[in-house]
Amino acid sequence: MAKFKGEIVINTERCKGCYVCMTACPQGVIRVSSQVNSKGYTYVEIGNDQCIGCANCAVVCPDGVITVYKAKVE
Ligand code: SF4
Ligand code: SF4
Repeated sequence: MAKFKGEIVINTERCKGCYVCMTACPQGVIRVSSQVNSKGYTYVEIGNDQCIGCANCAVVCPDGVITVYKAKVE
């Protein structure tokens, strides 16, 4: 089976801090930041490099905050 490595980009200014993405991630990649954005929401950030590009986080995010990039690992 092909292995995939992923990377996510989080648009922190648009994050509303609902944290459903954290629950959805099987790799524990997403964590709560210690910072707030300009709207006062405590946004999420990338906590490790274990992303597999499954896109669960992007699918569950109600505001389309997360973009997933996926690459095949040979
Ligand atoms: S793409 Fe999958 S593994 Fe990567 S951060 Fe999102 S839910 Fe986690
Ligand atoms: S699901 Fe979207 S809005 Fe909610 S915490 Fe994650 S990135 Fe932010």
